[in-house]
Amino acid sequence: MNIDTIVIAGAGQAGYQCAASLRQEGHAGRIVMIGDEPGVPYQRPPLSKAYLLGKVELASLAFRQAEFYEQQRIERLRDRIEAIDRAARTVTLAGGTVIGYDHLVLALGARNRVPQVPGIGLDGVFGIRTLADADALSPRLAEARHAVVIGAGFIGLEFAAVAAAKGLAVDVLELGTRPMARAVSETTSALFDAAHRSWGVQIRYGESLSAVIGEQGRVVAVQTASGVQLPADLVVYGIGVIPNAELAEGAGLAVRNGVVVDERLSTADPHISAIGDLASFPSPWSAPGAAPVRLESVQNAVDQAKTLAARLSGKADQPYAALPWFWTDQGSVKLQIAGLSDGVDQRVVLGDVEARQASVLCFRQGRLVAVESSNRPADHMAARKLIARATPLTPEDAQVEGFDLKACEAATRPAA
Ligand SMILES: Cc1cc2nc3c(=O)[nH]c(=O)nc-3n(C[C@H](O)[C@H](O)[C@H](O)COP(=O)(O)OP(=O)(O)OC[C@H]3O[C@@H](n4cnc5c(N)ncnc54)[C@H](O)[C@@H]3O)c2cc1C
Repeated sequence: MNIDTIVIAGAGQAGYQCAASLRQEGHAGRIVMIGDEPGVPYQRPPLSKAYLLGKVELASLAFRQAEFYEQQRIERLRDRIEAIDRAARTVTLAGGTVIGYDHLVLALGARNRVPQVPGIGLDGVFGIRTLADADALSPRLAEARHAVVIGAGFIGLEFAAVAAAKGLAVDVLELGTRPMARAVSETTSALFDAAHRSWGVQIRYGESLSAVIGEQGRVVAVQTASGVQLPADLVVYGIGVIPNAELAEGAGLAVRNGVVVDERLSTADPHISAIGDLASFPSPWSAPGAAPVRLESVQNAVDQAKTLAARLSGKADQPYAALPWFWTDQGSVKLQIAGLSDGVDQRVVLGDVEARQASVLCFRQGRLVAVESSNRPADHMAARKLIARATPLTPEDAQVEGFDLKACEAATRPAA
């Protein structure tokens, strides 16, 4: 396949990485990266934590400054893509420009799901996805006294910890029975529940938002589904995302919880691939026979972009097989997760949950497939290696007195 012009739709984590890696891998043709946000591509993770705490400067959020793109001949267009014409191999931008491609990389990410309740549009209600969101939220956080967070997922809890650290009273409404339930074990949930309580964050389980109440256009309280009214001068929701898959769907591509791609990250159209938060792909790390996954993490966006860049530049045509890993920072606890834990049937806990230094080893049919490490970074690094090389480690091995993941990794390391 002769690929000259590569159009990258979306200038976020995956789009930036794909453009940079294409040049690194030797792609000599045109690279056009189109994104609808202002400025240069930037990292999102600090937006819900260090950036709001004032610990990270605006300038250091950018992956690269504008000169990098010029030097690398990466054309950046700020516009919204409105349509894909697969027959003509073009994309049409909101401003009317039509751009032809030999290959189109869809890296459009996802957007926040917004609670559909009365009052959600009131002043003082925020989601956090973009730098613009964080910049709008930041001054309000500085003056607020009582924050209500909707959803005890990663982003909601990261924000809750920031708000508590800034001295706000914080309530979190969570429909389920424990924090981050979709992603972590009960042990890790319990560790974080206790941590948040100790910081003054009250997580109210089995509760959801039924209305946001305002006075003169500004939020003053929230009403929960069970009829409780909580005072609030700031409301932040984090109830999951919707993949930006409408363009692909409009072009007739398969969409099921994201844009469907194969193990090479290609859609059914050989001229279109999808990566990052948008892509639904078969993961070799899922349980056998599991449905395709869509992962929302920096690792996934970066590694998929690299895999795709290697294919498009003719360097290597390999299936995407990087081990998934993820982190979240909440107050003084850093949680790092290696692997995927669907189908897990046994768990072994190492360390001290009460001291908030613990790792949960997750086994599927006797094989280590995932590890959740809270404030145990050495465990996380060892786990990534052990899982990636399919080390035959059983729950029985891990239960032996004095078992240590780092030592186990060193002892089972293949000779160089
Ligand atoms: C607040 C926050 C905190 C996070 N913290 C962590 C963390 O601690 N650890 C971790 O691993 N991950 C974290 N993540 C997740 C991580 O940032 C994402 O997985 C990653 O950004 C995905 O990259 P992407 O390129 O697929 O999507 P994005 O980075 O969202 O980029 C997609 C881009 O496409 C643009 N776009 C969409 N539609 C169009 C269109 N039609 N035309 C033009 N442009 C369009 C979007 O505006 C956006 O700029 C966090 C995310 C958020 C929002």
